[in-house]
Amino acid sequence: MSRITPSESFEIINPAIPRGTVKFAIFDFDGTISLIREGWQQIMIPMMVNILMQTPNHESEPDIEQVVRTYVANTTGKQTIYQMIRLAEEIEKRGGSPEEPLVYKNLYHDLLMERIINRLQGLREGRITPVEMVVPGALEAVKQIHNAGIACFLASGTDEKYVLDEAALLGLPPYFAGIYGAQDDYRNFSKRMVIQRIIQENHLQGPELIAFGDGYVEIEDTKTAGGIAIGLATDEANRFGVDAWKRDRLIASGADIIMPDFTHFSDLWQYLMPED
Ligand SMILES: [Mg+2]
Repeated sequence: MSRITPSESFEIINPAIPRGTVKFAIFDFDGTISLIREGWQQIMIPMMVNILMQTPNHESEPDIEQVVRTYVANTTGKQTIYQMIRLAEEIEKRGGSPEEPLVYKNLYHDLLMERIINRLQGLREGRITPVEMVVPGALEAVKQIHNAGIACFLASGTDEKYVLDEAALLGLPPYFAGIYGAQDDYRNFSKRMVIQRIIQENHLQGPELIAFGDGYVEIEDTKTAGGIAIGLATDEANRFGVDAWKRDRLIASGADIIMPDFTHFSDLWQYLMPED
């Protein structure tokens, strides 16, 4: 059963969540706080379609595009390398001989960097302010939760060197006890492992832990640890309202609450931590 609060600022999916218990918070980075990499699908999908159109036994371009769209959607939230492993498999299925998945990952990163370089440069030079490159209200929410004495961790499936740079450009480091990203050795790293490490090192269990994310990994892991999972169903391109596809997926993963963004975070916090 779900209901919309009178202010419609957040949607309660699980009315039984405990309140007044939060001590630790995990934030996903891309799509939850940062919009620097917004639009990555428009880079990855055409790149893969182009590559698959060069295989000997390819279908029509619209059919290939449908295949790619579906598997990209289904692997969103996993590390990029897994999407490239899938690409290599799809090349092989169509009679092509794929490169190592890392080759495709590097190509994709180069193409993506072209798109986001202006955003990064703008932030570096001060032409763009951090508030223009985050989910609405995210910076205020992070400050508020930090000021309430909650230890915050940033967890991302994007390579750690990029996460550290981009988090710094958005002014986030002072509010976080730890910032974690992916390592090159993908077999020894996953967002799931980062989240589980944060949970284990801090002996987090149950409703002391809250997590904010737009991907199924962080929602599922938080629920497995008995924590409270807040799903951000942000419409990234318009920066307003709920993305219905994300909302359905987050609810299916076990999200306790759905928010379009952090604009009404204070209302949520008051609901979760009535004593604060
Ligand atoms: Mg995300």
